Amino acid sequence: MTDFARTKAQFDLPDGMIYLDGNSLGPLPTAAKARVAQTVAGEWGQMLITGWNKAGWMAQPTALGDRIGRLIGAAPGHVVLGDTLSVKVYQALAAAVDLVPNRKVILTDNGNFPSDIYMAEGLIKSLDRGHELRVIAPEDIADAITPEVAVVMLTQVDYRTGRMHNMKALTAKAHSVGAGTVWDLAHSAGALPVDVAGCKADFAVGCTYKYLNGGPGAPAFIYVAPHHIGTCQPALSGWLGHEAPFAFDLDYRPGTGIERMRVGTPPVLQMAALEAALDIWDKVDMHALRAASVALSEQFITGIEAVCPMLALASPRDPAQRGSQVSFRFDQGYAAMQACIARGLIGDFRAPDIMRFGFTPLFIDAGDVDRAISIVADVMQNRLWDDPIYQTRAAVT
Ligand SMILES: *Cc1c(COP(=O)(O)O)cnc(C)c1O
Repeated sequence: MTDFARTKAQFDLPDGMIYLDGNSLGPLPTAAKARVAQTVAGEWGQMLITGWNKAGWMAQPTALGDRIGRLIGAAPGHVVLGDTLSVKVYQALAAAVDLVPNRKVILTDNGNFPSDIYMAEGLIKSLDRGHELRVIAPEDIADAITPEVAVVMLTQVDYRTGRMHNMKALTAKAHSVGAGTVWDLAHSAGALPVDVAGCKADFAVGCTYKYLNGGPGAPAFIYVAPHHIGTCQPALSGWLGHEAPFAFDLDYRPGTGIERMRVGTPPVLQMAALEAALDIWDKVDMHALRAASVALSEQFITGIEAVCPMLALASPRDPAQRGSQVSFRFDQGYAAMQACIARGLIGDFRAPDIMRFGFTPLFIDAGDVDRAISIVADVMQNRLWDDPIYQTRAAVT
């Protein structure tokens, strides 16, 4: 069993703040401060270029990838870090489309994060082979997986509402018609148990700055199923994905394993912070995490619904259909969230009217949830949001 009081003690959280936004940017693991300082002063400062070998910088993308692999059900050697999630979506989709050359339809849903959709549109444009991006309602996806579909590209957990797709069933459906799958785990990795291998997912991608607590700008990850690793073609054929980067050949040959999904120089300082975050994750039982996350989310929903009838639950009521976030709709949701933030409760707002709260058992406990409920109740019952200071929108909501 995981001792969540112990994991909570390993984060640096500002006094008095209730942070229900670990789904957007995870907090600082205390050990990351010394780990990053050591990488800066002891490795970069003292080793300079020799750090690539001596400090193992070059191996970090696969070494840390293996540790993330455990959290998403991937065997060692199938996950690599690098770039941002948008880039990894492009890479995975390009490889997946390439494996089904005679089909032209990429299927996704309109709850997907816009960047995933934009990247698919960009890929279709550069391929210029007549692909079509079909964007439909999430509940219609299963029926829309037909033999004309090349790739089903979905984000497992909806970033706004927390609604969760059945990864296993939809992957099986895709395979039954000969289509491939790309799963975006941005709101799944570190939020709930994921089993990419058990679900037979073809490709999966995700980020490490949300639930995984790798820090702002931490690199993304990509998973490639064992039977595709030797055959999938990297669309972003950078030198570090080459079979022999330091041979400096003028012809590109993909690396033999997951290494082929590397592109260029890895973000060493970011990986140092992520390494400290993974030291905490290494000891977490994902099923215990899920149980704790469901308990916190249920406590929040029950508490809010008892005192705030003006808030409408936007997330599925059944916890089995939800990720680790809970959203409520309210017309003045932006102002209401600003009023909560001013009182030390950090959540976020997603247009047009969603107030979003993320539950992260690593550092949030039942006492925090009780305090969060009373802040929301105060803001809503006393119309504290109805103040001009909460109306002006910042660039990042
Ligand atoms: C957070 C998120 C992104 C962000 O992509 P970046 O390239 O890391 O900015 C993309 N897709 C989904 C589904 C997300 O939740």
